[in-house]
Amino acid sequence: TMASIPSTMKGVIIETTGGTEVLQYRTDLPVPSPGEGQVLVKNDYVGVNYIDTYFRTGLYPAPKYPYILGREAEGTVVKAGAGDLYGLREGDKVLMLSEGTYAEYTAANAAKAVKVKQGVEAKVGAAALLQGLTALTLIREAHPVKKGDWVLVHAAAGGTGLWLVQLLKAVGANLIGTASTREKVDLARKAGAEHMINYSHEDVRSKVMELTKDLGCVAVFDGVGKSTFDLSLDCLARKGSMVSFGNASGAVPPLTIARLSPKNARLMRPTLFGYITTREEFEHYVDELMEFVTKDKLDVRIHETYALSDVARAHNDLEGRKTTGKLLLDPSK
Ligand code: NDP
Repeated sequence: TMASIPSTMKGVIIETTGGTEVLQYRTDLPVPSPGEGQVLVKNDYVGVNYIDTYFRTGLYPAPKYPYILGREAEGTVVKAGAGDLYGLREGDKVLMLSEGTYAEYTAANAAKAVKVKQGVEAKVGAAALLQGLTALTLIREAHPVKKGDWVLVHAAAGGTGLWLVQLLKAVGANLIGTASTREKVDLARKAGAEHMINYSHEDVRSKVMELTKDLGCVAVFDGVGKSTFDLSLDCLARKGSMVSFGNASGAVPPLTIARLSPKNARLMRPTLFGYITTREEFEHYVDELMEFVTKDKLDVRIHETYALSDVARAHNDLEGRKTTGKLLLDPSK
């Protein structure tokens, strides 16, 4: 009920861009009120994504300052706004993609929120939603992967990487993954990436060509960006899809389109949000993702659940390549 909603809350804001020193953990932020088409959600778990670091550093500009970071969470609807809320009501446990989730409460657009499905345990929704939907839409839409396709995935032990590995395995692709340490190589192999390459010291191109009998991969899913872009083009098959979907190592510099000619390559730079723009698209992919989680029992690996007040360490670990799988924040701490 309204009476139980406080007027202030814990949250993490930035007022300027920079290193983790610009992250301000505050206990006095105003609790937002839900506008038209919004629900107020008390967050139980908040997902950390690489994109949060881009807004912090300024690689992606924040729409305003002060700005509350965060893109996804799971929690409970504590207050309904006006307008169409897609059937959501007070008391519903929900998963959502929303801005402003590094906080105890978020006014979230109901159009990008769904009720937690039966059989989905606590934390799993917040750990699965953004990265799982990214991996799923990449393999369905950016390059529809078929059984037997040779596919290369960089940073295969990362959050999005482990989703790509498991979903590609479910599709029956021939999967080649990269990772930077022995432990990450082992982890991604256990998750289903039969052919793993340690790109910190192995020659990725020659290994890919050996495995694919000099044909290359029909698709490369590259979320690493700057440091792997050229390598990814080298590993591509004729008529292959070069899917560049992130910048963990920095933004890919501008290139001349003539570089795509030698292989008649397709180049894409998709974002998740462009594949789940309508409610229909969003529900379609959420349903499919949750089927994978509940029926196919995909492993939703959680690296660590950090206290919200410990957010700087979470960002440092993610950017320092110390993590595998998903990082979560607990906004009550
Ligand atoms: P990850 O958990 O994958 O973490 C990033 C990983 O990238 C690291 O663990 C590391 O793995 C690898 N990496 C390689 N070079 C560097 C570097 N110089 N600095 C840091 N990391 C490096 O993060 P996410 O799953 O959250 O995101 C992965 C990528 O996918 C990001 O680029 C992100 O922006 C992108 N993304 C894009 C979306 C879209 O809509 N387009 C949506 C979601 C994610 P290793 O040590 O093995 O190299």
